[in-house]
Amino acid sequence: MRIYISSDIEGVAGVVDGEQGRPGNAEHERARRLMTQEVNAAIAGAAEGGATEILVNDSHGPMRNLIIEDIDSRARLISGKPKPVSMMEGLSSDYAGVFALGYHARAGSHGILAHTINGFAFARITVNGTDFGESGLYGGYAGELGVPVILFSGDDCLKAEVSPLFVGAEIVEVKRVIMNTAAESMTPKAAREAIKAGAARAVARAKEIKPFRVLPPINVRVELNSVPLADLMSLMPGNERTAPRAVSFTAGSMRMVIRTLNTMSAMSFMLR
Ligand SMILES: [Zn+2]
Repeated sequence: MRIYISSDIEGVAGVVDGEQGRPGNAEHERARRLMTQEVNAAIAGAAEGGATEILVNDSHGPMRNLIIEDIDSRARLISGKPKPVSMMEGLSSDYAGVFALGYHARAGSHGILAHTINGFAFARITVNGTDFGESGLYGGYAGELGVPVILFSGDDCLKAEVSPLFVGAEIVEVKRVIMNTAAESMTPKAAREAIKAGAARAVARAKEIKPFRVLPPINVRVELNSVPLADLMSLMPGNERTAPRAVSFTAGSMRMVIRTLNTMSAMSFMLR
């Protein structure tokens, strides 16, 4: 049984500030170690639940956070960027389930370090009329492949966001939001125990959990953080300017939605 782990950093126990997600400082060196240890807990739980093959994808920022020499040797690791489907690169329909580990809530919500794909560019992303964060976007892509997200870990705001969409998924709440950059967190040790137990339960129940599917045509509205950003995004073929700070596009698959959003994210670096 194959299990896929998409690993972000903002939802890791003990992480509360953007500095912990930015390479080149001591805080990130600590946070990446906590992230690696949570991934190892998930690998151990997955194996206990019956997984025989585990693929981990480093899904945060530069995508070179996880410390490969410390990763449990029962797994393989994807790192680096860009990648065609970014946070879900390497996932295929023969996986039994996805873990979305260390995930965070969507842009504009109250979650710790909440954003969607690119905090500088995107203020709000709506898919067929519903607000989506990275969980809905990438979880919807997994669903398109027929693979359910069976485990989430992150804060209580993420839990509220994913509960209605990913019915039956295990959700491990490792911290509670106080403000965008403040939280009440479990200790890393306690979080790892909870993640390991949740992972084992999720894998054992994987067959019962249904994939989250977004049916095409998929209409996406992207609200940008500024008018110049919307000016820039309106240049992209397929994008229609629908408001001073918004563009919209229609796609035939979540794969194309993700590729389009990540292309827009890359374009935004022109205005940084
Ligand atoms: Zn991240």
